[in-house]
Amino acid sequence: MKDITSLFGSMVFSDVVMQAMLPKEIYTALEKTISQGTHLELDVANVVANAMKDWAVEKGVTHFTHWFQPMTGTTAEKHDSFISRSGDNRIIMEFSGKELVRGESDASSFPSGGLRATFEARGYTVWDTTSYAFIKDGTLYIPTAFCSYSGEALDKKTPLLRSMEAIDKQALRILRLFNNTSVKRVITMVGPEQEYFLIDKEVFLKRPDLVCTGRTLFGARPPKGQELEDHYFGCLKPRVSAFMKELDEELWKLGVYAKTKHNEVAPAQHELAPIYTTANIANDHNQLTMELMKSIANKHGLACLLHEKPFAGVNGSGKHNNWSLCTDTGINLLEPGETPYENAQFLLFLVAVIKAVDKYQDLLRVSSASAGNDHRLGAHEAPPAIISMFLGDELTEILEALESGTSYQDKKKNQMEIGVTVLPHFPKDTTDRNRTSPFAFTGNKFEFRMVGSAFSVAGPNIILNTVVAEILKQFADTLEKSKNFTSDLALLVRTTYKEHKRIIFNGNNYSEEWVIEANQRGLSNLKNTVDALPAFVSQKSIELFSQHNVFGKSEIQSRYEILLESYCKTLHIEALTMVDIVSVQIIPACIDYQNDLAKLLERKKGCGKAYDTSLEMHLLKRIAKLSDCLLTKLTALENALNVLNGSREKQEVLANACFYRNKIVPAMTELRLTVDELETIVAKKYWSLPVYAELLYSVV
Ligand code: ADP
Ligand code: MG
Repeated sequence: MKDITSLFGSMVFSDVVMQAMLPKEIYTALEKTISQGTHLELDVANVVANAMKDWAVEKGVTHFTHWFQPMTGTTAEKHDSFISRSGDNRIIMEFSGKELVRGESDASSFPSGGLRATFEARGYTVWDTTSYAFIKDGTLYIPTAFCSYSGEALDKKTPLLRSMEAIDKQALRILRLFNNTSVKRVITMVGPEQEYFLIDKEVFLKRPDLVCTGRTLFGARPPKGQELEDHYFGCLKPRVSAFMKELDEELWKLGVYAKTKHNEVAPAQHELAPIYTTANIANDHNQLTMELMKSIANKHGLACLLHEKPFAGVNGSGKHNNWSLCTDTGINLLEPGETPYENAQFLLFLVAVIKAVDKYQDLLRVSSASAGNDHRLGAHEAPPAIISMFLGDELTEILEALESGTSYQDKKKNQMEIGVTVLPHFPKDTTDRNRTSPFAFTGNKFEFRMVGSAFSVAGPNIILNTVVAEILKQFADTLEKSKNFTSDLALLVRTTYKEHKRIIFNGNNYSEEWVIEANQRGLSNLKNTVDALPAFVSQKSIELFSQHNVFGKSEIQSRYEILLESYCKTLHIEALTMVDIVSVQIIPACIDYQNDLAKLLERKKGCGKAYDTSLEMHLLKRIAKLSDCLLTKLTALENALNVLNGSREKQEVLANACFYRNKIVPAMTELRLTVDELETIVAKKYWSLPVYAELLYSVV
C-alpha cells in the first residue's frame, strides 16, 4: 500500500518545498509576490530558479518548459535542457531567474485573431507565481501567462487572473460595507467535474472519424443504448478501474485533488471530480487532468474521448463548473450564515449573482459555445441553450416573501417575519436537486452545467467572475453612498430580486413548455454557436470587460474571431472526414456487397428456375437505391464545400460560420442518415467501421 499522503504533491514545487529550500528572506519576498502581486526582483528570482533546478535535478529532471494556454484550448510547451557549456567540452546544469520569469517564443503559429501581426511574431511567456511549478515526464513545468509584444493577452490564463482580481476588488468593497476589515482577499473557487468516455484503442483506431474529429460522424443506433440505466454509478470494470487508479495516483503526485470517480449515464462514460480550489489552479489542474486522461488511457490500451458528443443517441459529456467566492480567512460568501447579519450579506451576494446571470445571459451562453457543444445543449440530456437559474423552493420562497413583505413559513411551520436583518436560519442542504438546470444553486456554490467536456474552464470563469464583479460594483456604488445602510440594503435586495427573478426557474428545463415560457419571460434562446458568439463583441460586452480590465476591445475582437474560426475549422475537418470515409470505405463496401449479391443472382439464374431469388433481388434493389441516394448526398456536401472554397477568403468569418451552420451541417446530417441506414443492411464483412455496439461495449 502506497503512502498517499507522501505521494500527494511529491512532484510539485509547493509552498512546503519552497519554505524548506529557500532562504527566509527570499521565501518572504516570493510569498509577497504570490499573495499581493508585488514585483519580483531578479536576484530573488535567481535564487528561486536555482532552488527549483536543484530540487528538479534531484528527481532526475533534465529540462524545463514554460507551460502556457494559448487560444487553442489546450496547453503548449517547449522544452529546454538545463545544460550550459562550461569550457573544455564539459557542461553544467543551470537555470537562471531570467529564464524562470520570462520566456520568448516564436508564437506566430498560435491563433491570435489578428492581434499579433506576423512581422511581430514574438510572444512572451511570463511566470505565474500563483500556480506551482511541477515535474512531469522528466521536465520541470513552469505555469506561465502568454502575451504579445505590446502586452495583449494571447492566452486563457491572463484574463482569468484579471477577472479574479476584478471580482476580488468589488467583493472586498461589499465586505467593508458590512464592517469586515479583516479579509484581505476574496478568491474565486472552482471545482470542475470532468466527464469522459473510454473505449478500446483498437476499435478507436479503426474509426477515422474518432481519430480526426473526436466524434463519430456515422453510426446507427445500437440495440442497447442507455435505456436500462444500468451504467450510472455501476460497478467499475477492471480495466477502467486500473486506469482510474493510475490516473488518481499520477494526479495526486501533481498536487491535483482528484476525489470522486464513477460511471456516468451513457455506456462507456465516466466522471472525475476534484476537490475545489482557487480558479486559476483549478484551471491548470483541469488541463493536466485532461492531458493525463488521454496519455494514461493510451498506456492501458484505451482511448479517452473528451468530445462533448462522441456518440449520437446517448448522453454527451459536460464539465460542471462549480463556483463560489471564498475569503482569505476561509469563509465561503455563498454559504447561508448563522446570524441574520451574515444572512443579509449572503442574500446580497445571492441577488448579485441572480442579476448578473439575468443581465448577461448572452455572455454566459458565449462561454459555453462551440461546434462540439452544439450537439449537446438542448438535446434533452444537457441543459437547453436557454440560461436560467435554479434556487430550490426554500430559497425562492424566502426571496418571494422578502419581495412582497409577507412572512415566511419554514418547513417546521414556523411563521417568521423577515427582513434582511431578520432572516430565517437556512438549514443547509435543503436545496433540492435539479439536474436539468443550466445554472443551479447547490447549497453554498453555483453549478454551471452548460460548459462542454473539452472546454478549458478559464473561459466560463472569466465571464462569470466579470459579470458578478460588475453587479457587485453597482451595489457597492449605491450602498457606499447610503445614509441608512440597513433599509437601503433591504430595498436593494428586494428590488434586485423583483427586477431579475424572471431568470429563476425551478422546473424541468428539458420540457417543451419551458421553451415557450422562457420566450414569454424574454429570456434569450441562442440555439447554436453562430447565434451565440456575436454577443461577445457587442457594445455592452466591450464596456463590461474593459471597465474591469479583463479584456481590451482588440482582445475581445480577436477572441471572437478565433472562436468563430475554430467553429468553421472544426466543421470543415468533419465534412472532409465524412467525404473521405464515404468515398473510400462506405461506397466500396456497398459495391462489394452488391457485386457479390449480383454474382449469386447470376449463378442462381444460371441454374434455371429451381432457386428463388427474391431475397437477393430485394437486397440488391434496396442497396442500389440507397447507394444512389448516397451519391446524391455526397455530391451535395462536396458542392457545398466547393462553394465555400470559392468564397472563404473573401468573406467575413461570421459569414463563413453562417454558411457552415446553414449549408454544411444540414448536408452532413443528410449524408449520415443514408450511411446509417446502409450500416443496418450491408453485411458485416464489408463494413470496415466498427459499429456503435462494438465501440460502446468495447471495454470488457
Ligand atoms: P455532484 O456530481 O453531486 O454535483 P460532485 O461531488 O461530483 O457533485 O462534484 C461537486 C464538485 O463541486 C466538486 O468538485 C467539489 O469540490 C465542488 N465544490 C464543492 N464545494 C464547492 C465550493 N464551495 N466552491 C466551488 N466548488 C465546490
Ligand atoms: Mg458529479
